[in-house]
Amino acid sequence: MSTMVSPAVSAGYHHYNDYYYPSGDSIIRVENTLFKIHKFPLVHNSAVFASMFELPSGDGNPEGLSDELPIVLEGETAEDFRAVVKYIYAPPIQVQIQSIPAAALPEMISVARFSHKYAMDHWRSWALKVIGLHVTNLDLLPKEYLQPLYSLFILLEVGPSTRARILKRWCDMVEKNNLSIIPVLAAADAGEDREGLVAVYCIEIRRWEKGASTSAQTLTRNGVSQIHFQRMHSGHTSLTLAWNRFRTHEPPAMFQGTHCAGGGSAEYHTTRCIPYSRTQWVEAIVDAERVYPHVTQIASRLSHVGKRLQKNNMDASTLKMATCFDAVIKRFNYHVQEPDTSLENHFFPCELDSTESLRRKQSVRFSRTLEVQLVPSTGH
Ligand SMILES: [Zn+2]
Repeated sequence: MSTMVSPAVSAGYHHYNDYYYPSGDSIIRVENTLFKIHKFPLVHNSAVFASMFELPSGDGNPEGLSDELPIVLEGETAEDFRAVVKYIYAPPIQVQIQSIPAAALPEMISVARFSHKYAMDHWRSWALKVIGLHVTNLDLLPKEYLQPLYSLFILLEVGPSTRARILKRWCDMVEKNNLSIIPVLAAADAGEDREGLVAVYCIEIRRWEKGASTSAQTLTRNGVSQIHFQRMHSGHTSLTLAWNRFRTHEPPAMFQGTHCAGGGSAEYHTTRCIPYSRTQWVEAIVDAERVYPHVTQIASRLSHVGKRLQKNNMDASTLKMATCFDAVIKRFNYHVQEPDTSLENHFFPCELDSTESLRRKQSVRFSRTLEVQLVPSTGH
């Protein structure tokens, strides 16, 4: 009698042998897999299981006592539940945070995801601690873990800075190996992660700049939605305009002075300081474009310009000239601190929350100042 194949098993379900304990008091089915385990550790670790097992059994034929009438966990994967059961039953030495190898990361992701949903707070924080140890150096992490880790951090709404690092690493891999942006774009989109989306848009823009004209067509064929293209195009245009404001043959007027900040005469200022600052400026802009060839690197370019101006000012032939140019550098540094360099604003200009709206106003004010002051410079 007991050797007969049970109807449940013959119906396509199978026992998970490692976790089908003869002494178990609860049969749980996840997908096609039947687990026979003990109620106590589940109830003890999870508020959700506790209330699940408290439900009245009703007609005297309670769920969970046979393969034919198991407790069914809908929407879960057998893999996630297996990982939870494995560690709940593991001896203490095997759950020491320091002793879990990187190869167990998929199990940790399973435990974190399942315990988040089933209010198993202890196990959730345990899994996150193990994950935390393994993501300190992402260079050592096998690349196939980046996507599930990123999605986990989105789902659990934890560790925004770690999540951003994981996404950055993932984007770096995609760009370096010339992989499709679609998986990373889809993950950032699903997580409503604007910073992440911007990072992906920037990869695509750099590909355009390198002449990869076919990639847009490929993306459309693969179902990338129109909104992403619109943002990429408008972001690219906005960044290019922002950079071109600096890319003049003169230092923008706001960075020049009408009188000599080094105490020189008007003539000295016109014949010495202004040509000097013009040369310094053009060289710094050209050098920034050489070191950071893409417009998506606008923040790095501006910071490079500032540093280079500062460094090269040591070459000024007189103290007066150096002091005068120092004032130009100070004004430049002050103005590029304005959040106009925030990449996100270039891609999401129309959907502003209150903080962004404020930032936007500031950057508009900055642009206006620039326009107005540029006018007198045409007299040179
Ligand atoms: Zn001067």
